[in-house]
Amino acid sequence: MSSQDGKRTNGLIMAIDFDGTIVTHDYPRIGRDVGAIPHLLSLQNMGAKLILLTMRDGDQLAHAVGWCKERGLEFWAINENPGQKEWTSSPKVYAHVYVDDNGVGTPLVRDTATARPYVDWSKVGPTLKLRQAYMNGLSRADVAGAERPPNV
Ligand SMILES: [Mg+2]
Repeated sequence: MSSQDGKRTNGLIMAIDFDGTIVTHDYPRIGRDVGAIPHLLSLQNMGAKLILLTMRDGDQLAHAVGWCKERGLEFWAINENPGQKEWTSSPKVYAHVYVDDNGVGTPLVRDTATARPYVDWSKVGPTLKLRQAYMNGLSRADVAGAERPPNV
């Protein structure tokens, strides 16, 4: 694995939680789609490296990975950053950005069905795209077009 896959890359490494972040809380089942997938696909098109970072394991993890794959989303890695072993033995999964419904300050949507909120992608999605766009060296004027993959 090259150093491009670890820390030194233009693609922001984004660690994305599953329950309460990609779907509503309904563990061990899969909750409702909260609209993350189009944002995550767009971020991948812009160069972001997405890590699924979840407490799910075994069949529950496989179901979550399959649910995302059915919607066209395949992660760069699952519950690890494959490149970090080159420069650390720490078990913490290295990422530039962590998106998790338990994160302090994460924009959330109240879910009356489960009483547990989920990530508000209408706010988080554009913020992440802006960060990736700047990482790609786009100007402020270009950022308005961040929905589209950049021609770089
Ligand atoms: Mg969660």
